[in-house]
Amino acid sequence: MCGIIGYLGGREATPILMESLKRLEYRGYDSAGVAVLELPRAGEAVRTSITKSEAKVDTLIEKLEANMPSGRLGIGHTRWATHGKPTYINAHPHTDCKGKIFVVHNGIIENFAELKAELEAEGHEFPSETDTEVVPHLIEKYYKGDFLAAVRAALKRMKGAYALAMFSSDDPELLVGARLNAPLVVGLGEKENYIASDITAIIPYTKRVLVLGEGEVAAVTPLGAEVSSLDGVTVKPKIVHVDWDVTQAQKNGFAHFMLKEIHETPEALANAMRGRLTDDGLVSFREFDVPHEQLRNLNEVILLGMGTSLHAAMIGEYLLEDWVGLPARAVDASEFRYRRPTFADNALGVVITQSGETADTLVALQQAKSRGALTVAVTNVIASSAARDADGAIYLHAGPEIGVASTKTFNSHIVSLCLLAMRLATANDRISLERRHELVEAMRALPEHVKGILARDKEILGLANKYSKYRNFMYAGRGIGYPVALEGALKLKEISYIHAEGTSGGELKHGPIALLDDQFPVVAICTASATKDKMVSNVHEIVARNAPVLALVTKGDRSLDDVATDIFEMPAVEETVSAILNTVMLQLFAYHVAVKLGQDVDQPRNLAKSVTVE
Ligand code: GLU
Repeated sequence: MCGIIGYLGGREATPILMESLKRLEYRGYDSAGVAVLELPRAGEAVRTSITKSEAKVDTLIEKLEANMPSGRLGIGHTRWATHGKPTYINAHPHTDCKGKIFVVHNGIIENFAELKAELEAEGHEFPSETDTEVVPHLIEKYYKGDFLAAVRAALKRMKGAYALAMFSSDDPELLVGARLNAPLVVGLGEKENYIASDITAIIPYTKRVLVLGEGEVAAVTPLGAEVSSLDGVTVKPKIVHVDWDVTQAQKNGFAHFMLKEIHETPEALANAMRGRLTDDGLVSFREFDVPHEQLRNLNEVILLGMGTSLHAAMIGEYLLEDWVGLPARAVDASEFRYRRPTFADNALGVVITQSGETADTLVALQQAKSRGALTVAVTNVIASSAARDADGAIYLHAGPEIGVASTKTFNSHIVSLCLLAMRLATANDRISLERRHELVEAMRALPEHVKGILARDKEILGLANKYSKYRNFMYAGRGIGYPVALEGALKLKEISYIHAEGTSGGELKHGPIALLDDQFPVVAICTASATKDKMVSNVHEIVARNAPVLALVTKGDRSLDDVATDIFEMPAVEETVSAILNTVMLQLFAYHVAVKLGQDVDQPRNLAKSVTVE
């Protein structure tokens, strides 16, 4: 999820690693480190030096400058912790028992706990808390003198997501890269080559880039790179010429971070489910490992959040009520903190915050704790204040989000809340095996469905261009379509500065409808749900006031064909899944409207990414 750089060639590796890590900093990270295979002086044995910093790359650079390792092979990493706090010990690179194999990793090794137990039983020792550390030890287990063969054998045992750069001190002319569900490229230079998670790292050094495919391994030497499958079958390398500058490379060729991050949604959703959901729909959370009995005793759930997170909380409220049958309420954390809220005896407080540092949400969390509630933070940042303060944490694992307006993390929050609802429903015997199977199928298909919406970007751009002339918008929905409408409106106002409000379909005629005329369009969420027909009636009411309507409907539903001004058809999916797909569509719509109006979508005026003041 964060940054990887590897170098092998004729130059000193350390300065290249330092510069590249500096260029990768823009992604956000919590700690950093490098390993360099040092050139032996006469009579000395080969040795590898590891230098790490539990803080910024600048601290790492200071340490390296004070004691510069000299060598032509090295790997570097900026870490975005998923397993284990951002500490010195947990920072990468990690090594095996003998200190011969060195690994940096982005992603999550889903089955690391099983692998670690197996390796520990065989005598391997693990100083860190990371999932990554199983990788060098597993390679060590299979190492019989052929590093590449051992890497392949180890990778075959690993499930999850990885981009890896690795070397062994026995092979000073070999740098190995591998990837599965996480990006990795090889930069091809003149008698020197690179491995990187992100083209940004290598852009000043080379424009020739080998893009590694899923499940492929690259054996990189100073003279070139050979690509093979995990079975050792040679694969024809895919080499592209990249003409980007550093800024374009940081955005992976997208015009803005926001657009890049919307496109990262499929990967983010897969990461939120990784290692947590069995085929039978049983859910477990490593950092919120509460026994069934305790969950069975809960009699109320309070979901706290602000902004986009409050909308995610509202979706959580619907899910918990519907799937678990528990009283649930989503509350604006800034209001909650100044109320004298009532709590049931066995309440669960769920705090929703992307950064884990939202001031209002943190105070509300303290309040929930002091009133005896069990608490869990659903957040993207490991060891953030919310994660530390709450009794447990459910991490989104969405990777860094740079655009100020939250996009992928909103949908990761929804998926995480779905998992939490399934966990509670199972503990309370409120969900049948059949329903769990249905949900597992729906959730696992989600990333592909999102890709389907992303592929229709041009269609959405066309709609955005058409509607960008209006100065007011209403978004309407019912059921979980209501918080989706609120979020759609929020996204539009945040980045385009157009006035937009969200309403429930039912509330419309209690006031908001008075605003409507032919200059006040309505985005109506009418995809399949128990209240879809009611939304269709609402659209008729809206059209009677001459307001243009952009309706999101389920594919094949013709009920609004002659009524709505524009129709955007969505795939027929489970209702919760449709909330995510509808949101992705509305995020892209808001994005394109804002770009059309020339706004700074990544840094909208008056807004900050993490609101650490009241
Ligand atoms: N899961 C690994 C860790 O927590 C890798 C994190 C990353 O992608 O930076 O150390």
